Amino acid sequence: MVTAVVGANWGDEGKGKITDMLAENSDIIIRYQGGANAGHTIVNHYGKFALHTMPSGIFYSHTTSIIGNGVALNVPVFFREMQSIIEKGVPKPRVLISDRAQMVMSYHILLDTCEEERLAGRSFGSTRSGIAPFYSDKYAKIGIQVSELSDMDALRAKVENICTLKNVVLTNLYHKEPLRPDDIMEELRTYQKMLEPYVCDTSAFLDRAIREGKNILLEGQLGTMKDPDHGIYPMVTSSSTLAAYGAIGAGIPPYEIKKVVAVTKAYSSAVGAGEFVSEIFGDEADELRRRGGDGGEYGATTGRPRRMGWYDAVASRYGCRLQGATDVALTVLDVLGYLDEIPVCVAYEIDGVKTTEFPTTVRLAKAKPVYSYLPGWKCEIRGIRKYEDLPENCRNYVEFIEKKIGYPITMISNGPGRDDIIYR
Ligand code: GDP
Repeated sequence: MVTAVVGANWGDEGKGKITDMLAENSDIIIRYQGGANAGHTIVNHYGKFALHTMPSGIFYSHTTSIIGNGVALNVPVFFREMQSIIEKGVPKPRVLISDRAQMVMSYHILLDTCEEERLAGRSFGSTRSGIAPFYSDKYAKIGIQVSELSDMDALRAKVENICTLKNVVLTNLYHKEPLRPDDIMEELRTYQKMLEPYVCDTSAFLDRAIREGKNILLEGQLGTMKDPDHGIYPMVTSSSTLAAYGAIGAGIPPYEIKKVVAVTKAYSSAVGAGEFVSEIFGDEADELRRRGGDGGEYGATTGRPRRMGWYDAVASRYGCRLQGATDVALTVLDVLGYLDEIPVCVAYEIDGVKTTEFPTTVRLAKAKPVYSYLPGWKCEIRGIRKYEDLPENCRNYVEFIEKKIGYPITMISNGPGRDDIIYR
């Protein structure tokens, strides 16, 4: 059976933890979109890890981890991560890389960085990982597939064409040194050697696995609000963050995805620019940021302080709907135990009219949050394993959110560890 674990919000919902947890009963874990621009934080008995490229299943020796064709593969980051987990005592994971995955090249990162510098204050808040230039090239049909590394001679002509195109922008717009085809070929030869042991037809591998009845997890990156079609365009990422894309980015039939776990955090956070209706500021935000997540809400990739806000039921309902949630995992609930009263954004007011439908970006910019205030539970809930044992106000908070979003909350995460989970 195929299960997708995806974000219902802006990312950083705790998908890594949920995937790591579900991976225990899975055979295969697949990353199907995105690149090293976002990170998952995982805490387990080996230590604390920030993964950017590796699937979150690598900590179990019984699993196979797959980097699907939809991923923006940063080869040096992949190897650095592999090295660092082995150094921390994790047994060498079994990882397969799709022969149809494309590689993030050094010039993608260079172009991303140059563009962010050029835009300065008007920037998209990119992590400068080359993701937007990478996906632009993929769809402009000048990206480089892993499979192409098997024919270096054919690649040479392609690389020369790429250099011609990129150098116009690099030298004229950004006033940088031009790319040299020899350097790019050298980069590709290095990647070829590094990747060789891992590359295969992962779609065919998955087809067999599905037929054999294996348990397969699709691991999404970021969340619905960052989807290029359904999110807060243009402040989005460059590949689809939706479960539906899992079929394409992994190369499996769409009807095989039987379960979609949409992960939503008990409060909101976002990184980068973009509309964020329930955002809070000042001391109120600082306190939540400091107490949030596991050791504060700071980006796993960049270390940037995350923007903070109260739970947004409008965005989350929409987020779950677009993901096609069959299950909702509500995470980081333990963090809210310090509050006397907890605001939940239940509607938006746009031009004086209340709505619970998540609008397009132009209208979103005018939206003001409408809050309901729920009583806090004022105690530590970590360590609790049964739903009935949660304080009444805490259960009320969960049930209030469930009613507002309209999808079943079947898992509640009340701590960063694998066992900090309550099933309903
Ligand atoms: P992802 O990209 O969706 O995996 O999200 P992050 O890596 O940003 O994870 C969110 C952070 O919250 C990480 O530091 C996790 O260890 C932590 N975390 C996950 N679930 C919980 C939880 O239930 N409670 C607490 N306190 N921290 C959690």
